[in-house]
Amino acid sequence: MNKTARSARDEEIVIVDDSPAFLRALEAHLRHFGHAHVRSFQNPRQALDALGSGELAVGLVIVDLLMPEMSGIEVVKALKRLPNMMDVPVIVVSTHDEEEAVEETFFAGAMDYIGKPLRKLELKARVRNALRLRAALEARKAHERQLAELNVSLARANAELHRLSVTDPLTGLHNRRYFDDAVEKTLSLAARHGTEATLLIVDVDYFKAFNDTRGHLEGDQCLRSLAEALRDSVGRAHDIIARFGGEEFAVLLPSTGESGARAVSGRIHDNVQRLDIPHPTSEISDRLTVSIGSSTVTGELPVDEKELVDTADRALYVAKESGRNRTVFSRPKRPV
Ligand code: GH3
Ligand code: MG
Ligand code: MG
Repeated sequence: MNKTARSARDEEIVIVDDSPAFLRALEAHLRHFGHAHVRSFQNPRQALDALGSGELAVGLVIVDLLMPEMSGIEVVKALKRLPNMMDVPVIVVSTHDEEEAVEETFFAGAMDYIGKPLRKLELKARVRNALRLRAALEARKAHERQLAELNVSLARANAELHRLSVTDPLTGLHNRRYFDDAVEKTLSLAARHGTEATLLIVDVDYFKAFNDTRGHLEGDQCLRSLAEALRDSVGRAHDIIARFGGEEFAVLLPSTGESGARAVSGRIHDNVQRLDIPHPTSEISDRLTVSIGSSTVTGELPVDEKELVDTADRALYVAKESGRNRTVFSRPKRPV
């Protein structure tokens, strides 16, 4: 027997009838059919209180249709309003001259009825069917819960996969793929609204020599420290820092013109200086430095990613050629 069927069998069968003799007979039959957990209520209101409290694990309710305190129809309606009882099958017990009332209890949510006087085989079959339905419903709900949990963990895994796919593992910064997406959006916004945007390409000076003397692992650590220095240098939520490749970083500043770019690049040089990383084989300083190429679009002419990056690259080259540890500013030119 599977687990669901076993647990349904362990649930209580609650029976509600104003006649003690009928309750006794019904309970005896149910026990005879092997249902160990039977709970009898003579008073329907007490039954509803107990059922609504959620303290009973109930698998089936059998309720008399005609009771002086409260009709079976009212009991069924009340049960279907209880969150913990909504899916628990209800069988009504009726004499055969109450057909209309039986129909009404079906509308109210009862799943079956048993005629009075009790016929053992009919009772056995209907109770078994109701409990089977209950077990099937519970199995389905458990399955749906599992599916929902699976969906949540899949969504989490997807989000994590996406995060990893746009993250540089060494520094935790965005990677080139993320940058390409971001730059496209930034440029199209700048073109549409006629606003400015700036790209800074930051390149470590004499980094090959640094690696050669201090070793690759220290080189990696140095790149992590640089990533921190860059994070500390930009302030706006829309600014994007990405590892462009090797020892080059890109800082994309939407809605930022040259004066803003000067402020950010100044902070980058300051923060790198503050890192105070010894670089004995640099030809321009005894500490690690960076050169920066800056390119600002003004929104007056459409610029694509390649033009923006090429212009910043050329500015970086000029910064290197003119002594390193500096920023050179430029803007894409209108084609002649
Ligand atoms: P320049 O001042 O002209 O930029 O000189 P450079 O030596 O920095 O430039 P070059 O492009 O010749 O060398 C880049 C070096 O960066 C090569 C490699 O040793 C180092 N590098 C690139 N990627 C990594 C990395 O992921 N980890 C480490 N440790 N080093 C890297
Ligand atoms: Mg380089
Ligand atoms: Mg370099």
